Amino acid sequence: MKRIVAVVFLASTLALAQSNPTAPPPKVTYLRCGTLYDGKSDAAQKNVMLRVVGEKIDTVATATPEPGAEVIDLSHEVCLPGLIDTHTHVLLQGDITADDYDVQLLKWSTSYRTILGSVAAKRALEYGFTTIRDLETEGAGYSDVDIKKAINNGVIPGPRMQVAGRAMDVTGAYPLLGYSWELKVPKGVQEVDGAEGGRKAVREQISNGVDWIKVYSDRSYYVQPGGVLNDIPTFTLDELKAIVDEAHRERHKVASHAAALNGVHNSVEAGVDSIEHGMYIADADLQTMVAHGTYYVPTLFVGEYVAEGRAAAGAKVWVDMIKIHEDTFRRALKAGVKIAFGTDAGGFDWKIDPAKEFPIMVKYGMTPAQALHSANMSAAELLGMQDKIGSVEVGKYADIVAVPGDPMADVHQLEKVNFVMKGGVVYVRP
Ligand SMILES: [Zn+2]
Repeated sequence: MKRIVAVVFLASTLALAQSNPTAPPPKVTYLRCGTLYDGKSDAAQKNVMLRVVGEKIDTVATATPEPGAEVIDLSHEVCLPGLIDTHTHVLLQGDITADDYDVQLLKWSTSYRTILGSVAAKRALEYGFTTIRDLETEGAGYSDVDIKKAINNGVIPGPRMQVAGRAMDVTGAYPLLGYSWELKVPKGVQEVDGAEGGRKAVREQISNGVDWIKVYSDRSYYVQPGGVLNDIPTFTLDELKAIVDEAHRERHKVASHAAALNGVHNSVEAGVDSIEHGMYIADADLQTMVAHGTYYVPTLFVGEYVAEGRAAAGAKVWVDMIKIHEDTFRRALKAGVKIAFGTDAGGFDWKIDPAKEFPIMVKYGMTPAQALHSANMSAAELLGMQDKIGSVEVGKYADIVAVPGDPMADVHQLEKVNFVMKGGVVYVRP
């Protein structure tokens, strides 16, 4: 009863604040865009004036600015919807070799990692990624929930975030591994076993503030004759189904790290919402993904980036996987699987622009417009935010970026973002 009274009181206080006649009117900003791709159509619109009121887009037209309003001149720029990266790790600062990874979990405190994570979030925004889905903290607990909170409270600059917290894998499958059995070392995930264990872990993680449940569905890859990438599935199908069912029952989605044959198959059968990496996906599973509307988040760049280092450390399979990944991407594209842009940033150094993913998507068969769409509306739909972000439309958040040249002619332009607005606030100017 007490709680109900408190809620009613809070609601009436909020209503008062909103109708407060002395509150300043929301800021009005105009963006004069030489060219606009609005994210709905692939056609370029020329000389568009965008009116932004507060945090939302108010008008997309050739309106004349009212006196006193700020006008930002982007007449030599190409304006685009803010980019969305649906697979990042702000709590990770590169892990080409196992050593890089172990140092971060063994020698860096969670506090230190969170400070670095807040810098990574700022970088993501400055690269033009106004929204990210951060897919687990790699041993840093729920620090992503706190980084998201600090961004939303205006304490630090960063993108809009959906977060996954600790992620899940079965006992003994995920680093840190290989230390003496007498040592209790930290793990990059929450170790979860059994269907009931899975349901309990979902409940616990959601209560601690995650948006997404992330599972690791396979490990230990090897190339079979004929180019099929095989694996050891981690969870049983039963366990995965319980995790997915519990998450969906609580209106949360599940992202599955599934790189190869069995991990992908089990994930697709269990009804996960996105397949992460998917270096090898059997044709039958691609068909199920189309039927279920399951998203494919291919993370192509990171594979090329880490392959050399990992091959040098003795794991040649990472080099072979590049070609297999390309073939899978081409088959997925042809089959009509929904593809959302994701990079695994953090798996490579945050000093590298994650937009390097775009040219590889184009090299592997997408048009620049398709690649851009994967980081706009397609990604927004995966995040369930299609009514708020992903296109430049009246009523949506004013998440707008600009690049100096036409990305439809040269997709590398997306690595040259020089204007970033998120929610009507400018973070980068040309
Ligand atoms: Zn990842």
